[in-house]
Amino acid sequence: MENENHFADNKLPIVYSKRYAVHFAGLEKLHPFDSSKGKHIQQLLCAELSLENGDFYETTEITKEQLLQVHTHKYLKSLRWSINVASIAEIPALVFVPNFTLQKKYLRPMRYQAAGSILAGKLAMEYGWAINLGGGFHHCCSYKGGGFSPYADISLLILRLFEAEQSKVQRAMIVDLDAHQGNGHERDFKNVEDVYILDMYNAFIYPRDHDAKLTIRCAVELNHLTKDVYYLKQLKRSLMRALSEFKPNIIIYNAGTDVLAGDPLGNLSLTPEGVLERDCLVFSTFRSLGIPVVMLLSGGYMKSSSRVIADSIVNLQRQGWLGAKCPKNSNL
Ligand SMILES: [Zn+2]
Repeated sequence: MENENHFADNKLPIVYSKRYAVHFAGLEKLHPFDSSKGKHIQQLLCAELSLENGDFYETTEITKEQLLQVHTHKYLKSLRWSINVASIAEIPALVFVPNFTLQKKYLRPMRYQAAGSILAGKLAMEYGWAINLGGGFHHCCSYKGGGFSPYADISLLILRLFEAEQSKVQRAMIVDLDAHQGNGHERDFKNVEDVYILDMYNAFIYPRDHDAKLTIRCAVELNHLTKDVYYLKQLKRSLMRALSEFKPNIIIYNAGTDVLAGDPLGNLSLTPEGVLERDCLVFSTFRSLGIPVVMLLSGGYMKSSSRVIADSIVNLQRQGWLGAKCPKNSNL
């Protein structure tokens, strides 16, 4: 049916590159982020699902031309100054690191991850789903980075699909379930009718971006320490509401695991089982309707996040939501 015969049959549409990992000669330890999250998840998936490195899709680095589809020249130029990069990475000490090193050890891995999100978008149109073991930089918009988000991969992925898959993708829904408000894509898609944003976040933490909030079509503001039962009830209700208001051709699922209890930045109280249920709810809701889902990892700042994400992907597979039995996107 599809003409994308170059996709090998035995591969899963999970995108990963060993170049995703961030290294600052030890400085990454100053940040709560697990700088090798993608690698840890990939290793766990290999063990759990009997996969090999070659069963994943690998990406190349995003080019400057691709970045310019969303970003301004001025913004990209600003990343040549370590002081600006330090502020985005939230590691003040990076001010003293030469920009060449920051490009190589931080921004280049982020450019690989951004390219991974774009590739995942393309794969989702073929397979009905795809997961990038990175990306989800939802605090970055065309002209400004922040909150560990140097490139606007969600905007880049959506614009790429609108352009390259014109006949199949005219309407995109972002389901942003990271613990933080996704102000980057919200700023980029202000007044864009064809992008619907559902955002569920802790209202009392970064970024509290009131302008960006105006773009959210379905907002759920959570209190500190929100637990599974309330969270999942609100999510179910919001997904139904979103689907009644908008008919998407693709879902960009920003699946931050900083909703987990104990996360130093998210300050919510979900259990690992709650996260598995959350991911299952998102996949089952949309995949049962034949709507492709692209999952991006976004935030998740504890070392234990990798285990939870890998468990969740395995659970999605066991529940049948990553299999061929789900309808493809041809009936939209
Ligand atoms: Zn977050």
